[in-house]
Amino acid sequence: MKNDYGSLIRPKPLPDSASRPVVTPLCPSVVYSSDSPDMLDAQYEGDLAGYTYSREGHPNADVVAHAIDRIEGAPHLGVVTSSGMAAVSAVLLGLTKVGDHVIGGNQLYGRSLRMMSEDLPRLGIKTTLVDPSDVDAVRSAIRKTTRIILVEVVSNPTLRMADILGLASLARETGVLLVVDNTFTTPRAFKAFDYGADVVIHSITKLLAGHSDVMLGYIAARDIEINNQLRTFTVTAGMTPSPFDCWLAERGMLSFDLRFDRAQATAAILADHLAELSLVERVIYPGRFDHPDRQLSIILLKDQFCNMVSFEISGGRTEANAFTRAAEGLNFAPTLGDVGTTISHPASSSHRALTAEQRADLGISEGFFRVSVGLEDPKILCEIFTKAIHAARN
Ligand SMILES: *Cc1c(COP(=O)(O)O)cnc(C)c1O
Repeated sequence: MKNDYGSLIRPKPLPDSASRPVVTPLCPSVVYSSDSPDMLDAQYEGDLAGYTYSREGHPNADVVAHAIDRIEGAPHLGVVTSSGMAAVSAVLLGLTKVGDHVIGGNQLYGRSLRMMSEDLPRLGIKTTLVDPSDVDAVRSAIRKTTRIILVEVVSNPTLRMADILGLASLARETGVLLVVDNTFTTPRAFKAFDYGADVVIHSITKLLAGHSDVMLGYIAARDIEINNQLRTFTVTAGMTPSPFDCWLAERGMLSFDLRFDRAQATAAILADHLAELSLVERVIYPGRFDHPDRQLSIILLKDQFCNMVSFEISGGRTEANAFTRAAEGLNFAPTLGDVGTTISHPASSSHRALTAEQRADLGISEGFFRVSVGLEDPKILCEIFTKAIHAARN
Protein backbone atom coordinates (compact mmCIF):
# COMPACT_ATOMS: atom_id res chain seq x y z
CA MET A 1 0.00 0.00 0.00
CA LYS A 2 1.29 3.43 -0.93
CA ASN A 3 1.87 5.83 1.98
CA ASP A 4 -0.33 8.90 2.04
CA TYR A 5 2.28 11.57 2.88
CA GLY A 6 -0.40 14.21 2.56
CA SER A 7 -1.44 13.54 6.13
CA LEU A 8 2.00 14.30 7.60
CA ILE A 9 2.39 17.65 9.35
CA ARG A 10 5.48 19.07 7.59
CA PRO A 11 6.01 16.90 4.55
CA LYS A 12 7.06 19.32 1.81
CA PRO A 13 9.99 21.64 1.16
CA LEU A 14 9.39 25.04 -0.47
CA PRO A 15 8.32 24.93 -4.10
CA ASP A 16 11.29 24.86 -6.47
CA SER A 17 12.22 28.09 -8.24
CA ALA A 18 15.12 28.57 -10.64
CA SER A 19 15.09 32.28 -9.81
CA ARG A 20 15.86 33.63 -6.35
CA PRO A 21 14.13 36.29 -4.24
CA VAL A 22 15.82 39.70 -4.27
CA VAL A 23 14.88 40.36 -0.64
CA THR A 24 16.39 38.18 2.08
CA PRO A 25 13.73 35.67 3.17
CA LEU A 26 12.60 35.97 6.78
CA CYS A 27 13.43 32.71 8.58
CA PRO A 28 11.43 32.49 11.80
CA SER A 29 12.19 28.76 12.12
CA VAL A 30 13.49 27.92 15.58
CA VAL A 31 14.82 24.55 14.48
CA TYR A 32 16.66 23.31 11.42
CA SER A 33 16.52 19.68 10.43
CA SER A 34 19.63 17.78 9.42
CA ASP A 35 19.84 14.57 7.39
CA SER A 36 21.48 12.33 9.95
CA PRO A 37 23.34 12.21 13.27
CA ASP A 38 26.62 12.27 11.29
CA MET A 39 25.57 15.48 9.61
CA LEU A 40 24.46 17.08 12.87
CA ASP A 41 27.74 16.03 14.44
CA ALA A 42 29.67 17.70 11.64
CA GLN A 43 27.60 20.86 12.09
CA TYR A 44 28.29 21.02 15.84
CA GLU A 45 31.98 20.37 15.19
CA GLY A 46 32.01 23.26 12.73
CA ASP A 47 33.07 21.01 9.82
CA LEU A 48 29.81 21.69 8.05
CA ALA A 49 28.11 25.08 7.98
CA GLY A 50 24.49 24.82 9.02
CA TYR A 51 22.02 26.13 11.55
CA THR A 52 20.59 23.90 14.27
CA TYR A 53 18.53 25.88 16.79
CA SER A 54 17.91 29.58 16.37
CA ARG A 55 19.26 30.64 19.78
CA GLU A 56 22.58 29.31 18.49
CA GLY A 57 22.31 31.49 15.38
CA HIS A 58 20.06 32.01 12.38
CA PRO A 59 20.38 33.35 8.83
CA ASN A 60 18.75 36.75 9.45
CA ALA A 61 21.15 37.54 12.31
CA ASP A 62 24.15 36.53 10.22
CA VAL A 63 23.02 38.67 7.29
CA VAL A 64 22.92 41.71 9.61
CA ALA A 65 26.25 40.75 11.21
CA HIS A 66 27.88 40.53 7.77
CA ALA A 67 26.50 43.91 6.75
CA ILE A 68 27.96 45.60 9.84
CA ASP A 69 31.22 43.61 9.67
CA ARG A 70 31.73 44.97 6.19
CA ILE A 71 31.39 48.65 7.09
CA GLU A 72 33.11 48.27 10.47
CA GLY A 73 36.02 46.29 9.01
CA ALA A 74 35.50 43.46 11.51
CA PRO A 75 37.92 40.57 10.93
CA HIS A 76 35.49 37.78 11.92
CA LEU A 77 31.73 37.24 11.73
CA GLY A 78 30.24 39.58 14.35
CA VAL A 79 27.52 38.69 16.84
CA VAL A 80 24.07 40.27 16.69
CA THR A 81 22.30 40.49 20.05
CA SER A 82 18.76 41.23 21.17
CA SER A 83 19.62 44.83 22.17
CA GLY A 84 22.55 47.19 22.48
CA MET A 85 22.56 46.56 26.22
CA ALA A 86 22.74 42.81 25.58
CA ALA A 87 25.91 43.54 23.59
CA VAL A 88 27.35 45.69 26.41
CA SER A 89 26.38 43.06 29.01
CA ALA A 90 27.87 40.23 26.96
CA VAL A 91 31.22 42.01 26.80
CA LEU A 92 31.28 43.01 30.46
CA LEU A 93 30.01 39.68 31.81
CA GLY A 94 31.31 37.28 29.19
CA LEU A 95 34.96 38.34 29.33
CA THR A 96 35.42 38.85 33.08
CA LYS A 97 35.54 36.83 36.29
CA VAL A 98 35.45 37.54 40.02
CA GLY A 99 38.35 39.75 41.05
CA ASP A 100 38.76 41.39 37.65
CA HIS A 101 38.71 45.15 37.25
CA VAL A 102 36.98 47.16 34.52
CA ILE A 103 37.53 50.83 33.63
CA GLY A 104 34.69 52.76 32.03
CA GLY A 105 34.28 56.25 30.62
CA ASN A 106 32.61 58.50 33.18
CA GLN A 107 29.94 59.62 30.70
CA LEU A 108 28.86 56.26 29.28
CA TYR A 109 25.31 55.50 28.16
CA GLY A 110 23.09 55.47 31.27
CA ARG A 111 22.49 51.71 31.47
CA SER A 112 26.15 50.94 30.77
CA LEU A 113 27.01 53.23 33.68
CA ARG A 114 24.55 51.38 35.85
CA MET A 115 26.06 48.03 34.87
CA MET A 116 29.45 49.44 35.86
CA SER A 117 28.33 50.93 39.15
CA GLU A 118 25.76 48.35 40.36
CA ASP A 119 25.90 44.96 38.64
CA LEU A 120 29.59 44.31 38.10
CA PRO A 121 30.47 45.20 41.73
CA ARG A 122 27.62 42.93 42.94
CA LEU A 123 29.28 40.07 41.03
CA GLY A 124 32.70 40.78 42.48
CA ILE A 125 34.08 42.69 39.51
CA LYS A 126 35.58 46.02 40.53
CA THR A 127 35.04 49.11 38.40
CA THR A 128 36.46 52.61 38.04
CA LEU A 129 34.94 55.45 36.01
CA VAL A 130 37.39 57.87 34.41
CA ASP A 131 37.32 60.75 31.93
CA PRO A 132 38.31 58.99 28.67
CA SER A 133 39.77 62.14 27.13
CA ASP A 134 42.45 62.02 29.86
CA VAL A 135 44.79 59.12 29.02
CA ASP A 136 46.96 59.78 32.09
CA ALA A 137 43.92 59.46 34.35
CA VAL A 138 43.04 56.15 32.68
CA ARG A 139 46.66 55.01 33.07
CA SER A 140 46.56 55.75 36.80
CA ALA A 141 43.34 53.73 37.12
CA ILE A 142 44.88 50.59 35.60
CA ARG A 143 45.56 47.75 38.03
CA LYS A 144 47.11 44.31 37.62
CA THR A 145 43.59 42.90 37.42
CA THR A 146 42.26 45.37 34.83
CA ARG A 147 40.75 43.45 31.96
CA ILE A 148 38.66 45.97 29.99
CA ILE A 149 38.49 49.68 29.19
CA LEU A 150 35.01 50.53 27.88
CA VAL A 151 34.50 53.89 26.18
CA GLU A 152 32.23 55.69 23.76
CA VAL A 153 33.90 57.84 21.11
CA VAL A 154 31.53 60.78 21.66
CA SER A 155 29.98 61.07 25.11
CA ASN A 156 26.34 61.48 25.94
CA PRO A 157 25.00 64.16 26.13
CA THR A 158 27.89 66.63 26.29
CA LEU A 159 29.53 65.21 23.13
CA ARG A 160 33.08 65.15 24.50
CA MET A 161 35.66 63.07 22.62
CA ALA A 162 37.53 60.07 24.04
CA ASP A 163 41.23 59.95 23.18
CA ILE A 164 40.92 56.64 21.37
CA LEU A 165 44.45 56.63 19.91
CA GLY A 166 45.99 57.28 23.34
CA LEU A 167 43.76 54.67 24.97
CA ALA A 168 44.55 52.12 22.26
CA SER A 169 48.29 52.43 22.79
CA LEU A 170 47.81 52.28 26.57
CA ALA A 171 45.66 49.15 26.15
CA ARG A 172 48.28 47.48 23.92
CA GLU A 173 51.05 48.35 26.35
CA THR A 174 49.19 46.97 29.37
CA GLY A 175 47.42 44.01 27.76
CA VAL A 176 43.97 45.41 28.53
CA LEU A 177 41.13 45.11 26.02
CA LEU A 178 39.91 48.40 24.55
CA VAL A 179 36.17 48.12 23.97
CA VAL A 180 34.59 50.90 21.92
CA ASP A 181 30.83 51.49 21.88
CA ASN A 182 30.57 53.04 18.41
CA THR A 183 26.81 53.70 18.50
CA PHE A 184 26.88 57.52 18.24
CA THR A 185 29.70 57.70 15.72
CA THR A 186 28.92 54.61 13.60
CA PRO A 187 31.49 53.16 11.21
CA ARG A 188 30.57 55.92 8.76
CA ALA A 189 32.28 58.49 10.99
CA PHE A 190 34.68 56.27 12.91
CA LYS A 191 36.23 52.90 12.09
CA ALA A 192 37.08 51.74 15.58
CA PHE A 193 39.26 48.77 14.55
CA ASP A 194 41.48 51.07 12.45
CA TYR A 195 42.11 53.14 15.59
CA GLY A 196 43.09 50.17 17.73
CA ALA A 197 39.84 48.94 19.31
CA ASP A 198 39.90 45.28 20.36
CA VAL A 199 36.12 44.95 20.57
CA VAL A 200 33.43 47.08 18.91
CA ILE A 201 29.86 47.39 20.20
CA HIS A 202 26.78 48.88 18.57
CA SER A 203 23.25 49.57 19.50
CA ILE A 204 21.82 48.75 16.06
CA THR A 205 18.57 50.19 17.44
CA LYS A 206 19.87 53.68 16.76
CA LEU A 207 21.44 54.92 13.51
CA LEU A 208 22.22 51.59 11.84
CA ALA A 209 18.62 50.33 11.76
CA GLY A 210 17.44 53.93 11.84
CA HIS A 211 13.66 53.69 12.02
CA SER A 212 12.96 53.20 15.75
CA ASP A 213 11.20 49.91 15.08
CA VAL A 214 13.81 47.33 16.08
CA MET A 215 16.00 46.81 19.11
CA LEU A 216 19.28 45.02 18.42
CA GLY A 217 22.94 45.10 19.31
CA TYR A 218 26.21 44.03 17.71
CA ILE A 219 29.62 42.92 18.94
CA ALA A 220 32.78 42.09 17.02
CA ALA A 221 36.25 41.33 18.37
CA ARG A 222 39.61 41.57 16.65
CA ASP A 223 40.79 38.31 18.23
CA ILE A 224 39.03 35.16 17.04
CA GLU A 225 39.13 33.51 20.49
CA ILE A 226 37.47 36.53 22.09
CA ASN A 227 34.96 36.70 19.25
CA ASN A 228 34.08 33.03 19.87
CA GLN A 229 33.91 33.55 23.62
CA LEU A 230 31.46 36.41 23.12
CA ARG A 231 29.31 34.41 20.70
CA THR A 232 29.16 31.46 23.09
CA PHE A 233 28.21 33.70 26.00
CA THR A 234 25.39 35.42 24.09
CA VAL A 235 24.00 32.00 23.09
CA THR A 236 24.22 30.62 26.63
CA ALA A 237 22.72 33.76 28.15
CA GLY A 238 19.93 33.80 25.56
CA MET A 239 20.78 37.17 24.04
CA THR A 240 20.01 35.99 20.50
CA PRO A 241 17.87 38.43 18.46
CA SER A 242 14.55 37.75 16.80
CA PRO A 243 14.76 36.97 13.07
CA PHE A 244 12.07 39.56 12.35
CA ASP A 245 14.03 42.33 14.09
CA CYS A 246 17.11 41.35 12.09
CA TRP A 247 15.09 41.34 8.89
CA LEU A 248 13.84 44.87 9.63
CA ALA A 249 17.33 46.03 10.58
CA GLU A 250 18.75 44.69 7.32
CA ARG A 251 16.11 46.68 5.46
CA GLY A 252 16.84 49.82 7.47
CA MET A 253 20.56 49.48 6.91
CA LEU A 254 20.17 49.57 3.13
CA SER A 255 19.89 53.35 3.42
CA PHE A 256 22.26 53.82 6.36
CA ASP A 257 25.04 55.63 4.47
CA LEU A 258 22.64 58.06 2.84
CA ARG A 259 20.78 58.72 6.07
CA PHE A 260 23.96 59.29 8.02
CA ASP A 261 25.47 61.66 5.46
CA ARG A 262 22.30 63.68 5.22
CA ALA A 263 21.70 63.84 8.98
CA GLN A 264 25.25 64.86 9.83
CA ALA A 265 25.28 67.56 7.13
CA THR A 266 22.03 68.93 8.56
CA ALA A 267 23.42 68.69 12.10
CA ALA A 268 26.31 70.97 11.09
CA ILE A 269 23.84 73.49 9.66
CA LEU A 270 21.61 73.31 12.73
CA ALA A 271 24.57 73.71 15.11
CA ASP A 272 25.73 76.87 13.33
CA HIS A 273 22.18 78.17 13.22
CA LEU A 274 21.63 77.63 16.95
CA ALA A 275 24.94 79.34 17.74
CA GLU A 276 23.63 82.47 16.00
CA LEU A 277 20.52 82.71 18.18
CA SER A 278 20.92 85.11 21.09
CA LEU A 279 18.66 83.00 23.31
CA VAL A 280 21.00 80.01 23.01
CA GLU A 281 23.71 80.02 25.67
CA ARG A 282 25.98 77.44 24.08
CA VAL A 283 26.09 74.84 21.33
CA ILE A 284 28.13 71.65 21.37
CA TYR A 285 28.91 69.96 18.07
CA PRO A 286 32.12 68.02 17.37
CA GLY A 287 32.40 69.66 13.93
CA ARG A 288 32.39 73.23 15.26
CA PHE A 289 35.55 75.31 15.73
CA ASP A 290 34.57 76.03 19.35
CA HIS A 291 34.16 72.39 20.43
CA PRO A 292 36.32 71.76 23.54
CA ASP A 293 37.95 68.68 21.95
CA ARG A 294 38.25 70.13 18.46
CA GLN A 295 41.70 68.61 17.77
CA LEU A 296 40.59 65.13 18.79
CA SER A 297 37.41 65.38 16.76
CA ILE A 298 39.37 66.29 13.61
CA ILE A 299 41.84 63.43 14.14
CA LEU A 300 39.20 60.81 14.96
CA LEU A 301 36.18 61.86 12.93
CA LYS A 302 37.86 63.73 10.07
CA ASP A 303 34.80 65.29 8.42
CA GLN A 304 31.87 63.11 9.52
CA PHE A 305 30.97 64.71 12.81
CA CYS A 306 27.76 62.72 13.51
CA ASN A 307 24.18 63.80 13.75
CA MET A 308 24.14 64.79 17.43
CA VAL A 309 23.97 68.41 18.54
CA SER A 310 23.57 69.58 22.13
CA PHE A 311 22.64 73.09 23.19
CA GLU A 312 21.54 75.04 26.19
CA ILE A 313 18.92 77.72 26.67
CA SER A 314 18.64 79.78 29.82
CA GLY A 315 15.86 79.21 32.30
CA GLY A 316 14.52 76.23 34.23
CA ARG A 317 12.00 73.44 33.80
CA THR A 318 9.23 75.88 32.77
CA GLU A 319 11.25 77.09 29.79
CA ALA A 320 12.29 73.51 28.96
CA ASN A 321 8.62 72.41 28.93
CA ALA A 322 7.66 75.37 26.76
CA PHE A 323 10.45 74.57 24.30
CA THR A 324 9.54 70.92 23.70
CA ARG A 325 5.84 71.75 23.48
CA ALA A 326 6.55 74.37 20.83
CA ALA A 327 8.93 72.16 18.81
CA GLU A 328 6.21 71.25 16.38
CA GLY A 329 6.56 68.01 14.45
CA LEU A 330 9.68 66.87 16.33
CA ASN A 331 9.49 64.04 18.82
CA PHE A 332 10.59 64.69 22.37
CA ALA A 333 11.79 61.15 22.98
CA PRO A 334 14.78 59.56 24.70
CA THR A 335 16.40 57.94 21.68
CA LEU A 336 18.63 58.84 18.76
CA GLY A 337 19.29 57.90 15.17
CA ASP A 338 15.67 57.92 13.99
CA VAL A 339 14.78 59.13 10.49
CA GLY A 340 13.05 62.04 12.21
CA THR A 341 14.74 64.54 14.50
CA THR A 342 14.31 63.69 18.19
CA ILE A 343 15.00 65.91 21.17
CA SER A 344 16.02 64.61 24.57
CA HIS A 345 16.28 66.37 27.89
CA PRO A 346 18.97 64.67 29.97
CA ALA A 347 17.95 66.31 33.26
CA SER A 348 14.56 64.55 33.17
CA SER A 349 15.68 61.32 31.44
CA SER A 350 19.18 59.83 31.06
CA HIS A 351 20.66 61.89 33.90
CA ARG A 352 17.65 62.08 36.22
CA ALA A 353 19.29 59.83 38.82
CA LEU A 354 22.05 62.39 39.39
CA THR A 355 21.68 65.25 41.85
CA ALA A 356 21.35 68.75 40.38
CA GLU A 357 24.91 69.37 41.58
CA GLN A 358 26.31 66.29 39.83
CA ARG A 359 24.51 67.38 36.68
CA ALA A 360 25.92 70.89 37.01
CA ASP A 361 29.43 69.36 37.20
CA LEU A 362 28.80 67.71 33.85
CA GLY A 363 27.33 70.95 32.47
CA ILE A 364 23.78 69.60 32.25
CA SER A 365 21.24 72.22 33.29
CA GLU A 366 17.43 72.25 32.97
CA GLY A 367 17.90 74.18 29.74
CA PHE A 368 20.24 71.55 28.26
CA PHE A 369 18.92 69.60 25.26
CA ARG A 370 20.42 66.90 23.06
CA VAL A 371 19.21 66.71 19.48
CA SER A 372 19.47 63.69 17.21
CA VAL A 373 19.14 65.28 13.81
CA GLY A 374 17.02 63.40 11.26
CA LEU A 375 16.28 63.72 7.58
CA GLU A 376 14.10 66.84 7.55
CA ASP A 377 14.77 69.77 5.26
CA PRO A 378 17.53 71.73 7.07
CA LYS A 379 15.84 75.08 6.48
CA ILE A 380 12.52 73.96 7.93
CA LEU A 381 14.29 72.30 10.86
CA CYS A 382 16.15 75.52 11.71
CA GLU A 383 12.86 77.45 11.58
CA ILE A 384 11.18 75.00 13.97
CA PHE A 385 14.04 75.38 16.47
CA THR A 386 14.04 79.17 16.21
CA LYS A 387 10.31 79.28 16.82
CA ALA A 388 10.41 76.86 19.75
CA ILE A 389 13.34 78.60 21.42
CA HIS A 390 11.53 81.94 21.19
CA ALA A 391 8.35 80.35 22.53
CA ALA A 392 10.31 79.13 25.56
CA ARG A 393 11.03 82.73 26.49
CA ASN A 394 7.46 84.00 26.33
C1 LIG B 1 21.09 53.16 23.14
C2 LIG B 1 22.49 52.89 23.47
C3 LIG B 1 22.88 51.68 24.05
C4 LIG B 1 21.87 50.61 24.39
O1 LIG B 1 21.26 50.11 23.25
P1 LIG B 1 19.76 49.47 23.28
O2 LIG B 1 19.63 48.93 21.90
O3 LIG B 1 18.81 50.56 23.62
O4 LIG B 1 19.79 48.41 24.32
C5 LIG B 1 24.21 51.49 24.34
N1 LIG B 1 25.13 52.44 24.08
C6 LIG B 1 24.80 53.61 23.52
C7 LIG B 1 25.85 54.62 23.26
C8 LIG B 1 23.46 53.89 23.20
O5 LIG B 1 23.13 55.06 22.66
